[in-house]
Amino acid sequence: MRYYKTPCSVQRIFSSFIWKKPQTIPTIYLTFDDGPIPKLTPFIINLLAQYNAKATFFCVGDNIRKHPEIFQNVIEQGHQIGNHTYNHLNAWKTDKKIYLENITLCKQEIESQGVKSTLFRPPYGKLSFNLRKDITKDHQIVMWDVLSYDFDQTLSPENCLNCSIKYTQNGSLIVFHDNIKATKNIEYALPRYLEYFSEKGFVFEKL
Ligand SMILES: [Zn+2]
Repeated sequence: MRYYKTPCSVQRIFSSFIWKKPQTIPTIYLTFDDGPIPKLTPFIINLLAQYNAKATFFCVGDNIRKHPEIFQNVIEQGHQIGNHTYNHLNAWKTDKKIYLENITLCKQEIESQGVKSTLFRPPYGKLSFNLRKDITKDHQIVMWDVLSYDFDQTLSPENCLNCSIKYTQNGSLIVFHDNIKATKNIEYALPRYLEYFSEKGFVFEKL
């Protein structure tokens, strides 16, 4: 079962999180999780530039350490950065203290590159109530209302595109993945997604 659209009931329960942001001019908030990586990030930022699109990249700290030059390219293009932990930890399987330290490590890696960010997205969208209180002291937690499932190897690129389009509305916050697993789907779906909504007069903004 794939849940492309986050139910409104869930969005209401966790109303302190960002899920979507409707605007006067039809706007989409593209987000890319897990990078930066050489295989995909350059492709994504080149494509975004063609559409004058800005996006938010929820980076894994260890990937920033490994690929600082690619991270700098993302910054130079004017995109927003968010924290996605240092090692892509699962909050439901990780000790609270270790998880919080991992967020701090990622924050330090981001800041070592001359960038500040107060946005945080938990890997897998998983968080405990306890962690939520601690994280929101100095971060805004950003979720999504549309999940592209680009990382799902059993999903065809055509279906990835069609479902992403179908569930997107004004203000939608959609998740794609700057992750090797998503390569096949994102290379097909992202250019067509950008083309489709550009033609409809949508703009793409960072958070
Ligand atoms: Zn992730």
